[in-house]
Amino acid sequence: MSDAPEKRGKPTTVLIVVDPSGSAERLEAELGEAARVLRDGGTVAFPTETVYGLGGNALDRRAVARIFAAKGRPQDNPLIVHIADMGALGSIASSVSPGARALADRFWPGPLTLILPKSDAIPDEVTAGLDSVAVRMPSHPVAAALIRAAGVPVAAPSANISGRPSPTSAEHVWHDMAGRIDMLVDGGSADIGVESTVIDMTCSPPMILRPGGITLEEIREVIPETVVLTGGEGLDGPAKSPGLRHRHYSPEAQMWLVIGEWDAQVDEIKSRAAAGVRLGRRVGLLVSTETAAKLCTWIRDCGGEGPAGEIIVAEIGSRNDASQVASGLFDGMRRLDAAEVDMMLAESYDARGMGLAIMNRLMRAAGGRIIRVQGEAGNDLISEKSIE
Ligand code: AMP
Ligand code: MG
Repeated sequence: MSDAPEKRGKPTTVLIVVDPSGSAERLEAELGEAARVLRDGGTVAFPTETVYGLGGNALDRRAVARIFAAKGRPQDNPLIVHIADMGALGSIASSVSPGARALADRFWPGPLTLILPKSDAIPDEVTAGLDSVAVRMPSHPVAAALIRAAGVPVAAPSANISGRPSPTSAEHVWHDMAGRIDMLVDGGSADIGVESTVIDMTCSPPMILRPGGITLEEIREVIPETVVLTGGEGLDGPAKSPGLRHRHYSPEAQMWLVIGEWDAQVDEIKSRAAAGVRLGRRVGLLVSTETAAKLCTWIRDCGGEGPAGEIIVAEIGSRNDASQVASGLFDGMRRLDAAEVDMMLAESYDARGMGLAIMNRLMRAAGGRIIRVQGEAGNDLISEKSIE
């Protein structure tokens, strides 16, 4: 397993299934083989509470190189190092400020990633040459048991082909990664459904680089002056968080995001979908339960209207429950891709609470294809620049 990559050939991906509700001891025992693969420099995909991760030993350059190769990830996009115990932090970060300590005490284990000054033990390949490192302690019992059993910090980006929607189930990982990684641990669905919040603790005030599973409002309860990065992360300038430069979360079909007052959004989705159907396209709608309900009679009447067009709906949860929408978001994109739609139209959401992470993913998935309709919320946290 620790041979040079060129001698290893193409991995055959081993699938193991574990029950996340088992005791920690039982999980650690069941994950013994997966832990050995990690220690030997291999790659293992596993569930976390946010999305599935693709793990490798963070202290082993060759394991880290295998993660980048399997994903086709640009080398300048650093990885998050996952730990299972607070004690491991000291060997990863060279210092931990009182603010960082307070956030870790409050939100770990959980979906919060802290950017801290890097220790020398972490290879440059993990941090893409930066002098800071991203660290998180996941709360998912399978992730925690695997890291503990491996006995090493685990570098893990999302377990998807780079640029694609993140995987929230073992099926998603298998679709993207079978034959590219050594092992997949199926431990059921990742329930939060969007990635961790990434907060830079090396600057003052702390800055959220990527909104995620812990909300801005929750972080401000601990550090009220926390700010959110908007704009400035464009393609040309030095990026605050290198990953933001790259294409991300993109379904195969082009996605259009409609922003504005709800009724106006629904009208816009109808007219764009009807136009697509008239042109013979398969149109995917990434919408809430409420919008799907509003559209259902109309779709029945309009769906057969075009020469060969069709409307396919992926319902991703209630507009009134952002956690449902977050949890269904990437799965909805992947279902529409599997249905081989030619284009997608997505509804937008209030950018407060978890809505900020949802809108960030939707805007980046749309990659600038934003349709603004009447009554657009003037929320500066989702400025157009923040999707570059
Ligand atoms: P992913 O692993 O795809 O969920 O993405 C990890 C995110 O964390 C990316 O947006 C990275 O750019 C960001 N990240 C990781 N390490 C650092 C770091 N040292 N400084 C700033 N951002 C980082
Ligand atoms: Mg990712």
